[in-house]
Amino acid sequence: MFVDSHCHLDFPDLAEREDAILAAMAEHRVGHALCVCVKVEDFPRVLALAERHAHLWASVGVHPDNAGVEEPDLARLLALADHARVVAIGETGLDYYWQKDAPEWQRERFRTHIRAARKCGKPLIIHTRSAADDTLRLMREEAAGEAGGVMHCFTESREVAEAALDLGFYISFSGIVTFKNATELKAVAQYVPLDRLLIETDAPYLAPVPHRGRTNEPAWVVHVAEEIARLRNEPLERIEIATTENFFRLFRHAQAH
Ligand SMILES: [Zn+2]
Ligand SMILES: [Zn+2]
Repeated sequence: MFVDSHCHLDFPDLAEREDAILAAMAEHRVGHALCVCVKVEDFPRVLALAERHAHLWASVGVHPDNAGVEEPDLARLLALADHARVVAIGETGLDYYWQKDAPEWQRERFRTHIRAARKCGKPLIIHTRSAADDTLRLMREEAAGEAGGVMHCFTESREVAEAALDLGFYISFSGIVTFKNATELKAVAQYVPLDRLLIETDAPYLAPVPHRGRTNEPAWVVHVAEEIARLRNEPLERIEIATTENFFRLFRHAQAH
């Protein structure tokens, strides 16, 4: 069984094809998927997916790209996270690519999410883009290692991976690792210890080769696993078993069944 550790099944492109997407998952032996929240306004739809389907799980959080949306304080985040189907806090983090002025509200929001994760004992899903130094700095300042979590859709250097691993975090690879020009990232995928590796689609974005450019979906996480197996010169089954075990070890509020 494979697990897609990060997707957005509540987004309109995917939500309208829910039955077909779940059927494709079953066909490709993708047994579970974590539906990741990007703003509080969307949380009811994310949670509803996890309540309808025993093999879908939910997170709660506000993505660093989202300006002008509800800004939950610590108490509000904790209240939303207090649900058996919610297994993680995020996605959260810093993104200076889309917010080039590197606003303070992003860092405040990130700090609040780290505090919530520590308080409720659910791990963090961290998004970082063009902001690796500040992301790691805030993780250290707020003791994010106490909550643990994953650096999702990892695209940073080996040094950043090393720093995140030192903080006890997992590293998750998306379809980007299958792209021909992702030379540096492929090397990182060879380096991360097998017991810290996760796979994801980030669907509907970033469809892996051979579906590149199309609307991504959880079934295609298998192609991410195939590429990692190829890069590491290991049997696919080994990557399948390890990434699934890692998922349920990290997101310990989710149960395999
Ligand atoms: Zn992200
Ligand atoms: Zn995402």
